[in-house]
Amino acid sequence: MAHKVTVVGVPLDENSSFLRGPALAPARIRAVLHAGAMNLTTEDGVDLGVRSDWHDSGNLEIGTGEAAIADIERQMAALLAMGTRVLALGGDHSITFPIIRAVAGVHPNLTILHIDAHPDLYDEFDGSRRSHACPFARIMENGLATRLMQVGIRAMNAHQRQQADRFGVEVIEMRAFRPDLALDLHGPVYISLDLDALDPAFAPGVSHHEPGGLSVRDVLRLLAGVEGPIIGADIVEYNPIRDHADMTAAVAAKFYKELVGYLLK
Ligand code: MN
Ligand code: MN
Repeated sequence: MAHKVTVVGVPLDENSSFLRGPALAPARIRAVLHAGAMNLTTEDGVDLGVRSDWHDSGNLEIGTGEAAIADIERQMAALLAMGTRVLALGGDHSITFPIIRAVAGVHPNLTILHIDAHPDLYDEFDGSRRSHACPFARIMENGLATRLMQVGIRAMNAHQRQQADRFGVEVIEMRAFRPDLALDLHGPVYISLDLDALDPAFAPGVSHHEPGGLSVRDVLRLLAGVEGPIIGADIVEYNPIRDHADMTAAVAAKFYKELVGYLLK
Protein backbone atom coordinates (compact mmCIF):
# COMPACT_ATOMS: atom_id res chain seq x y z
CA MET A 1 0.00 0.00 0.00
CA ALA A 2 1.11 3.50 -0.71
CA HIS A 3 2.23 5.72 2.12
CA LYS A 4 -0.50 8.04 3.36
CA VAL A 5 1.82 11.04 2.82
CA THR A 6 4.69 11.56 0.39
CA VAL A 7 7.10 14.50 0.47
CA VAL A 8 8.68 15.50 -2.84
CA GLY A 9 11.14 18.22 -3.80
CA VAL A 10 10.41 20.34 -6.86
CA PRO A 11 13.74 22.01 -7.66
CA LEU A 12 12.53 24.61 -10.16
CA ASP A 13 13.43 28.30 -9.91
CA GLU A 14 13.59 29.46 -13.52
CA ASN A 15 10.23 31.24 -13.23
CA SER A 16 11.53 33.54 -10.49
CA SER A 17 11.36 37.19 -11.55
CA PHE A 18 14.16 38.54 -9.35
CA LEU A 19 16.64 35.95 -8.03
CA ARG A 20 17.44 32.29 -8.56
CA GLY A 21 18.08 29.99 -5.57
CA PRO A 22 14.85 28.19 -4.59
CA ALA A 23 15.90 25.16 -6.68
CA LEU A 24 18.45 24.50 -3.91
CA ALA A 25 15.76 24.58 -1.21
CA PRO A 26 14.54 20.96 -0.97
CA ALA A 27 18.01 19.58 -0.25
CA ARG A 28 18.79 22.32 2.29
CA ILE A 29 15.47 21.87 4.13
CA ARG A 30 16.03 18.10 4.39
CA ALA A 31 19.62 18.60 5.58
CA VAL A 32 18.53 20.93 8.37
CA LEU A 33 15.55 18.75 9.33
CA HIS A 34 17.87 15.76 9.77
CA ALA A 35 20.95 17.56 11.15
CA GLY A 36 20.16 16.48 14.71
CA ALA A 37 19.25 19.91 16.07
CA MET A 38 15.49 19.25 16.04
CA ASN A 39 13.50 16.10 16.67
CA LEU A 40 10.77 14.84 14.36
CA THR A 41 7.80 15.35 16.68
CA THR A 42 5.03 17.77 15.72
CA GLU A 43 3.63 20.23 18.26
CA ASP A 44 0.59 18.05 18.89
CA GLY A 45 2.74 15.00 19.55
CA VAL A 46 2.93 13.06 16.27
CA ASP A 47 6.43 11.49 16.19
CA LEU A 48 7.28 11.33 12.49
CA GLY A 49 10.45 9.45 13.41
CA VAL A 50 8.49 6.33 14.36
CA ARG A 51 5.65 6.57 11.83
CA SER A 52 5.99 4.38 8.75
CA ASP A 53 2.95 5.77 6.90
CA TRP A 54 4.85 8.67 5.31
CA HIS A 55 8.11 9.06 3.41
CA ASP A 56 10.23 11.60 1.57
CA SER A 57 10.74 10.28 -1.96
CA GLY A 58 13.35 12.84 -3.08
CA ASN A 59 13.05 15.29 -5.96
CA LEU A 60 10.88 15.13 -9.06
CA GLU A 61 12.68 14.85 -12.42
CA ILE A 62 11.95 18.06 -14.25
CA GLY A 63 13.04 19.65 -17.50
CA THR A 64 12.88 23.32 -18.40
CA GLY A 65 10.32 25.78 -19.75
CA GLU A 66 6.82 24.52 -20.49
CA ALA A 67 8.11 20.93 -20.23
CA ALA A 68 8.96 21.46 -16.54
CA ILE A 69 5.37 22.47 -15.83
CA ALA A 70 4.06 19.37 -17.65
CA ASP A 71 6.62 17.18 -15.83
CA ILE A 72 5.40 18.41 -12.44
CA GLU A 73 1.73 17.85 -13.27
CA ARG A 74 2.34 14.35 -14.67
CA GLN A 75 4.43 13.15 -11.72
CA MET A 76 2.06 14.70 -9.18
CA ALA A 77 -0.91 13.02 -10.85
CA ALA A 78 0.92 9.67 -10.75
CA LEU A 79 1.58 10.06 -7.01
CA LEU A 80 -2.03 11.05 -6.29
CA ALA A 81 -3.28 8.06 -8.32
CA MET A 82 -1.45 5.83 -5.83
CA GLY A 83 -3.66 7.28 -3.11
CA THR A 84 -1.00 9.30 -1.28
CA ARG A 85 -1.26 12.93 -0.11
CA VAL A 86 1.68 15.08 -1.18
CA LEU A 87 3.72 17.81 0.49
CA ALA A 88 5.82 19.56 -2.17
CA LEU A 89 8.99 21.46 -1.30
CA GLY A 90 9.66 24.24 -3.84
CA GLY A 91 11.04 25.68 -5.86
CA ASP A 92 9.53 29.02 -6.71
CA HIS A 93 5.78 29.56 -6.56
CA SER A 94 5.27 28.69 -10.26
CA ILE A 95 5.19 25.01 -9.22
CA THR A 96 1.79 25.44 -7.56
CA PHE A 97 -0.20 25.73 -10.82
CA PRO A 98 0.77 22.28 -12.20
CA ILE A 99 0.46 20.78 -8.72
CA ILE A 100 -3.09 22.12 -8.37
CA ARG A 101 -3.97 20.87 -11.85
CA ALA A 102 -3.16 17.38 -10.61
CA VAL A 103 -4.81 17.86 -7.21
CA ALA A 104 -8.02 19.28 -8.74
CA GLY A 105 -8.32 16.10 -10.81
CA VAL A 106 -8.83 14.22 -7.55
CA HIS A 107 -10.60 17.00 -5.59
CA PRO A 108 -12.99 18.90 -7.87
CA ASN A 109 -14.37 20.88 -4.91
CA LEU A 110 -11.08 22.32 -3.69
CA THR A 111 -10.42 25.15 -1.24
CA ILE A 112 -6.94 26.69 -1.31
CA LEU A 113 -5.43 28.55 1.64
CA HIS A 114 -2.64 30.65 0.11
CA ILE A 115 -0.32 32.26 2.66
CA ASP A 116 1.92 34.87 1.01
CA ALA A 117 3.03 38.52 1.06
CA HIS A 118 1.98 38.66 -2.60
CA PRO A 119 -1.30 37.67 -4.28
CA ASP A 120 0.55 36.12 -7.31
CA LEU A 121 -2.44 37.01 -9.48
CA TYR A 122 -0.66 38.73 -12.38
CA ASP A 123 -2.06 37.83 -15.79
CA GLU A 124 1.57 37.87 -16.96
CA PHE A 125 4.82 39.16 -15.50
CA ASP A 126 7.89 40.28 -17.50
CA GLY A 127 6.28 38.65 -20.53
CA SER A 128 5.76 35.25 -18.88
CA ARG A 129 2.50 33.58 -17.91
CA ARG A 130 4.52 30.93 -16.06
CA SER A 131 6.11 33.49 -13.71
CA HIS A 132 6.00 32.89 -9.97
CA ALA A 133 3.92 36.10 -9.89
CA CYS A 134 1.07 34.38 -11.84
CA PRO A 135 0.13 30.91 -10.49
CA PHE A 136 -3.13 31.90 -8.82
CA ALA A 137 -4.37 33.67 -11.96
CA ARG A 138 -3.76 30.40 -13.86
CA ILE A 139 -5.48 28.33 -11.16
CA MET A 140 -8.58 30.53 -11.02
CA GLU A 141 -9.02 31.08 -14.78
CA ASN A 142 -8.89 27.29 -15.21
CA GLY A 143 -11.58 26.84 -12.56
CA LEU A 144 -9.35 24.59 -10.43
CA ALA A 145 -10.49 25.88 -7.03
CA THR A 146 -13.92 26.53 -5.58
CA ARG A 147 -12.49 28.91 -2.99
CA LEU A 148 -9.19 30.73 -2.83
CA MET A 149 -8.37 32.46 0.43
CA GLN A 150 -5.19 34.53 0.65
CA VAL A 151 -3.69 35.56 3.98
CA GLY A 152 -0.72 37.83 4.74
CA ILE A 153 -1.03 39.93 1.59
CA ARG A 154 0.76 43.31 1.71
CA ALA A 155 1.88 43.97 -1.86
CA MET A 156 -1.42 44.33 -3.70
CA ASN A 157 -1.33 46.68 -6.70
CA ALA A 158 -4.31 47.85 -8.77
CA HIS A 159 -3.99 45.11 -11.42
CA GLN A 160 -3.92 42.33 -8.84
CA ARG A 161 -6.82 43.87 -6.90
CA GLN A 162 -8.79 43.79 -10.15
CA GLN A 163 -7.81 40.15 -10.70
CA ALA A 164 -8.82 39.25 -7.12
CA ASP A 165 -12.25 40.82 -7.70
CA ARG A 166 -12.60 39.11 -11.08
CA PHE A 167 -11.86 35.67 -9.61
CA GLY A 168 -13.75 36.16 -6.32
CA VAL A 169 -10.62 35.69 -4.22
CA GLU A 170 -11.09 36.11 -0.46
CA VAL A 171 -8.17 38.31 0.55
CA ILE A 172 -7.16 38.90 4.15
CA GLU A 173 -4.61 41.64 3.89
CA MET A 174 -1.84 41.80 6.46
CA ARG A 175 -3.00 45.20 7.70
CA ALA A 176 -6.33 43.56 8.72
CA PHE A 177 -4.79 40.36 10.12
CA ARG A 178 -5.40 39.37 13.74
CA PRO A 179 -3.71 36.36 15.38
CA ASP A 180 -7.08 34.97 16.54
CA LEU A 181 -8.56 35.03 13.04
CA ALA A 182 -11.08 32.22 12.39
CA LEU A 183 -10.96 31.15 8.72
CA ASP A 184 -13.94 28.78 8.35
CA LEU A 185 -12.15 26.51 5.86
CA HIS A 186 -13.78 23.12 5.49
CA GLY A 187 -13.93 20.37 2.91
CA PRO A 188 -10.73 19.40 1.08
CA VAL A 189 -8.18 22.17 1.73
CA TYR A 190 -4.82 22.63 0.01
CA ILE A 191 -2.22 24.81 1.76
CA SER A 192 0.22 26.84 -0.35
CA LEU A 193 2.79 28.45 1.92
CA ASP A 194 5.12 31.06 0.42
CA LEU A 195 7.74 31.74 3.08
CA ASP A 196 7.85 35.45 2.22
CA ALA A 197 4.45 35.69 3.97
CA LEU A 198 6.53 35.65 7.14
CA ASP A 199 8.16 38.83 8.30
CA PRO A 200 11.79 38.86 7.05
CA ALA A 201 12.79 38.92 10.74
CA PHE A 202 11.54 35.31 10.98
CA ALA A 203 12.47 34.16 7.48
CA PRO A 204 15.23 36.20 5.83
CA GLY A 205 16.00 33.47 3.28
CA VAL A 206 13.54 34.50 0.58
CA SER A 207 14.04 36.41 -2.66
CA HIS A 208 11.48 39.14 -1.96
CA HIS A 209 11.72 40.79 1.47
CA GLU A 210 8.38 42.39 2.32
CA PRO A 211 8.53 43.72 5.91
CA GLY A 212 5.49 43.78 8.17
CA GLY A 213 4.57 40.12 7.87
CA LEU A 214 3.37 37.09 9.81
CA SER A 215 5.23 35.40 12.65
CA VAL A 216 5.97 31.67 12.62
CA ARG A 217 3.39 31.32 15.41
CA ASP A 218 0.75 33.19 13.35
CA VAL A 219 1.15 30.65 10.54
CA LEU A 220 1.06 27.68 12.92
CA ARG A 221 -2.20 29.04 14.38
CA LEU A 222 -3.66 29.49 10.90
CA LEU A 223 -2.86 25.86 10.05
CA ALA A 224 -4.30 24.63 13.34
CA GLY A 225 -7.53 26.53 12.59
CA VAL A 226 -8.22 24.77 9.28
CA GLU A 227 -11.12 22.36 9.69
CA GLY A 228 -10.11 20.58 6.53
CA PRO A 229 -9.20 17.85 5.86
CA ILE A 230 -5.86 19.20 4.60
CA ILE A 231 -5.28 17.04 1.49
CA GLY A 232 -2.11 18.58 0.05
CA ALA A 233 0.42 21.34 0.65
CA ASP A 234 3.48 23.10 -0.63
CA ILE A 235 6.24 25.16 0.98
CA VAL A 236 7.75 27.47 -1.63
CA GLU A 237 10.18 30.34 -2.20
CA TYR A 238 12.81 29.35 0.35
CA ASN A 239 16.05 30.74 -1.10
CA PRO A 240 19.15 29.27 0.64
CA ILE A 241 21.40 31.85 -1.03
CA ARG A 242 19.64 34.60 0.95
CA ASP A 243 19.56 32.72 4.27
CA HIS A 244 21.55 33.38 7.45
CA ALA A 245 22.80 30.41 9.52
CA ASP A 246 19.99 28.24 8.10
CA MET A 247 17.39 30.28 10.05
CA THR A 248 14.84 30.08 7.26
CA ALA A 249 15.66 26.45 6.50
CA ALA A 250 14.78 25.69 10.13
CA VAL A 251 11.46 27.51 9.69
CA ALA A 252 10.77 25.51 6.52
CA ALA A 253 11.74 22.28 8.32
CA LYS A 254 9.34 23.16 11.14
CA PHE A 255 6.48 23.64 8.65
CA TYR A 256 7.54 20.42 6.88
CA LYS A 257 6.97 18.51 10.13
CA GLU A 258 3.72 20.23 11.04
CA LEU A 259 2.26 19.87 7.53
CA VAL A 260 3.17 16.16 7.31
CA GLY A 261 1.43 15.83 10.69
CA TYR A 262 -1.75 17.48 9.34
CA LEU A 263 -1.67 15.45 6.12
CA LEU A 264 -1.49 12.25 8.18
CA LYS A 265 -4.78 13.08 9.96
MN1 MN B 1 4.16 33.56 -3.89
MN1 MN C 1 5.53 35.93 -2.11
